[in-house]
Amino acid sequence: MTECLACSRSADASAALARRGLRVTPLRTRVLAALHHAGRPLGAYELFDLLKAEGAASAPPAVYRVLDFLAAQGLVHKLQSLSAYTVCAASDHPHHAQFLICRGCGGVAELETPALDRLAREAAGTGFRVEHMSVETHGLCTGCAATGAGA
Ligand SMILES: [Zn+2]
Ligand SMILES: [Zn+2]
Repeated sequence: MTECLACSRSADASAALARRGLRVTPLRTRVLAALHHAGRPLGAYELFDLLKAEGAASAPPAVYRVLDFLAAQGLVHKLQSLSAYTVCAASDHPHHAQFLICRGCGGVAELETPALDRLAREAAGTGFRVEHMSVETHGLCTGCAATGAGA
């Protein structure tokens, strides 16, 4: 897991919003920074509790709206199988992602999988309008597999 300081993450989060021409609000910045800082997916409630504790949020619906917004913008991904959110590792370009979800440490790695782009093109070829596609793969990361953490 990479070293992660909340202060620099906040600056990064503001920059990510500004780069896309999105309004930088304190809550958007804090949600992004908190997800970065956690280094693992967070559920909406868990995120709300964190932000509430630091005085950044007072009502859950505001946090949910920000999460929906950031997901629609491709800055975060929702992991359906965990009902949790994770920061996108490649938000500078559109992509279909595969998520490797470790049941040992709870870590998630995002992989850009070219095969998914092909699947999306095939679906689109039938006239189907693809809105969202991702693959969530569960198992053990290299570290946990080596130490037997998930056994
Ligand atoms: Zn992504
Ligand atoms: Zn692991």
